[in-house]
Amino acid sequence: PVKFKPVTWREVEEGCAKIAEQISSRGIKVDVIVGVLRGGWIPARLLSDYLGTPTMGALEVKFYRGIGETAERPVVTQPLIVDIRDKVVLVVDDVADTGKTLNIAINFLTHYGPRKILTAALYLKPWSMHRPDFYAEETDAWIVFPWDKAETVEELVRKKGLSLEEVSKITGEDIEFIE
Ligand code: 5GP
Ligand code: MG
Ligand code: MG
Repeated sequence: PVKFKPVTWREVEEGCAKIAEQISSRGIKVDVIVGVLRGGWIPARLLSDYLGTPTMGALEVKFYRGIGETAERPVVTQPLIVDIRDKVVLVVDDVADTGKTLNIAINFLTHYGPRKILTAALYLKPWSMHRPDFYAEETDAWIVFPWDKAETVEELVRKKGLSLEEVSKITGEDIEFIE
């Protein structure tokens, strides 16, 4: 059975504050923050606020299975607009699970000549092949973020046949199903 970890907005703020503290205490000055769409965007925006780094960009990474491929491969589906040449870049995602997303983001960003690429994720799964430079907490549970609650509910009700009562226990509060 899948273990779920519902995360509150306050925990999101606290996690981002913890990451900002780790970065500042190492004396690092971040020039550009790149959020990984869509889940990394809100943590990225909070870090922009906490670190006083107004320059932001975004990258979208999606998973695809090509012809003859057995495993899904991450692909950058929305390119970078912000200039990162000679800049210290912080790439932010909500969670590093397999770690493939952050790895592909690093590979992609390297081509634009940054001075340094650092990574951050609110959560880290213990089996990830990429260990972010900064993270708030390690967990092996499936995290339900405030920004993906509706899609989690949708999937659990429609695809897995759970009742709304069972789903409420997972998402951590009373939920309504929007038709
Ligand atoms: P990766 O496996 O490449 O490290 O993570 C890919 C993406 O899967 C993440 O950016 C995130 O959107 C999604 N993901 C992975 N683990 C979780 C999880 O526990 N909860 C949620 N909501 N999304 C996850
Ligand atoms: Mg994601
Ligand atoms: Mg997501």
